[in-house]
Amino acid sequence: MRSQPLFREAGLLPEDLAQFDHGRNRGYEFWLNEQPTPYYRAHLLLHEFTHCYTTVVRHGLLQTGWYMEGIAELFATHNLDNDGHFQFACLPQQRTQFPGLGRIRLIEEARQDGNLLSLTEVQQQPYERFLKPEAYAWSWALCQFLMGHPRYRAPFLEASQSVTTAATDAKLRQLLSQPTLAREWEWFTRDLCHGYDQMLATITPPGQLSNTVSASPTKVKSTQDAKTPAGSVIIRAKGGWQLTPLDLTAQHPLTLEAFGRFQLQTEPQPWVCTAAGVSIKYHIGLPLGRLVGRIWPDDPQVPTPPDLDLGSRATVVPPVSGRLYLRLNDAWNELADNRGEVRVCPTE
Ligand SMILES: [Zn+2]
Repeated sequence: MRSQPLFREAGLLPEDLAQFDHGRNRGYEFWLNEQPTPYYRAHLLLHEFTHCYTTVVRHGLLQTGWYMEGIAELFATHNLDNDGHFQFACLPQQRTQFPGLGRIRLIEEARQDGNLLSLTEVQQQPYERFLKPEAYAWSWALCQFLMGHPRYRAPFLEASQSVTTAATDAKLRQLLSQPTLAREWEWFTRDLCHGYDQMLATITPPGQLSNTVSASPTKVKSTQDAKTPAGSVIIRAKGGWQLTPLDLTAQHPLTLEAFGRFQLQTEPQPWVCTAAGVSIKYHIGLPLGRLVGRIWPDDPQVPTPPDLDLGSRATVVPPVSGRLYLRLNDAWNELADNRGEVRVCPTE
């Protein structure tokens, strides 16, 4: 609708429908105001259509803002390929592909302002908050996090599919109360960007043995031969934050040294790198390829401290006790073409 009065005159916009800025559904019907871009018009249509679908059956989440709006945003975030096929629930690869959307931009702004929402805060957003786009951005992000996550996708879908048995509420609460999920969410919000590679970025929480998304398990195995000193860790270039066996104690210094060469891109020519990084290209203010660290605090209540800049040799004084994770600094949407690894050794 470009002009609501014209639709009202024609009897197509009911008098008793509550005011709305963008779109509104009631039962199987929905109404949309005209939007500034064709992408966002289609996005909003899919959003309201999803509401029609998710409000048909009575279930325990009808008043749960983050879920109802998050699911609608999840399916509305779509892509139309050259063959005319729609893909729904996609993570935007490039900002220009989704004109008028801006969900990831809002989270990036919140990150710059130090206003990232915790898992609890996203879930507790009251319905009044949904007059502003930020609430939609957070709700979408939580649904996308669960939907795109190799371990949480199945239980999330199972909970969503239980609407007819009224078990959705309980199943979701059970999923969201898993002990490591709040921390994994925190890290997701810290790193989320357009094209964020959720599969390669998946984190193995401390206490879980194998990294299920290991890009080249055989290769990793072959380098851990008899010559590899005890306590050293292999960190793959093609990966996100990688669990190490190193438990850090607050204020106890630890020196790390990194050996080896790896490749951050293959085109236009292979780009060979060491853990010191390449100082002609940067991500998060640090050279690409540079070894960086992040601490998973032992205390679930303690926020994750700022990332550690390590390079090929560094001594860190951990601000909190916790488990050390390492990665080779690269844009989160450019992990797939990385090759190789470094060996990181704790030294005296
Ligand atoms: Zn909505």
